Amino acid sequence: MEKLEQMYEGKAKKVFSCSDPNLCIVSYKDDATAFNGKKKGTIVGKGIVNNKMSNYLMSLLEKEGVPTHFVEELSERDTLVKRVKIVPLEVIVRNVAAGSFSKRFGVAEGTKLLAPTLEFCYKCDELDDPMCNEYHIIACGWATREDLDRITDLTFRVNAFLLKFFSSINVDLIDFKIEFGKTADGTILLADEISPDTCRLWDATTHEKLDKDRFRRDLGNVEGAYLEMMKRIFG
Ligand code: UDP
Repeated sequence: MEKLEQMYEGKAKKVFSCSDPNLCIVSYKDDATAFNGKKKGTIVGKGIVNNKMSNYLMSLLEKEGVPTHFVEELSERDTLVKRVKIVPLEVIVRNVAAGSFSKRFGVAEGTKLLAPTLEFCYKCDELDDPMCNEYHIIACGWATREDLDRITDLTFRVNAFLLKFFSSINVDLIDFKIEFGKTADGTILLADEISPDTCRLWDATTHEKLDKDRFRRDLGNVEGAYLEMMKRIFG
């Protein structure tokens, strides 16, 4: 399958059409942004790590009964996916306090939460992705009650699986963001990516950060963190 026309360019990926109207090709870039695009940079090799890691996790999730957009890895950076309309929500799960949760609620980073939490943010760059609740989502028509219930159920299943998976490579899954899409026939699929760009991943022993916080917070060895995740997953 070959790339035809570029349909969209996001912060970390480009999306191309292909000859099958029900599919498209995503191409992962090394571009990194943080703080809603205010901080920009390059993480050499990131696109390759995120492509391979995301595809691998999605193929495992499929086996666990979570439907995803993943179809086939075409190359180091390119993947064939099912064409969906993205539900304009960032779905965030937290197992341990960090980032904006710590700031908002005054809970120290690293505090284990008594139960996983679920947050929704409305995907809108101009508004800085404001946090919203289910009433806002239904009132504004971003998703229906039915879609939200499905998304919530799938999200907690994704969390349960990822917690187990990362723990097997001595990594704590602190929090993550996922996105869902809807196919032409109305099926909700896990879309976008699961990578060190979208998850907080801490070494379970040393608590060293192995994710994009190294870039956001100028912690150094950013490329090393992505490569370390690659090594732990693929050996
Ligand atoms: N996240 C993301 N994209 C965003 C916002 C958050 O992938 O636009 C991920 C982030 O990497 C972290 C989790 O969602 O794993 C929770 O992020 P948080 O709300 O703490 O925001 P941040 O501190 O990243 O601004």
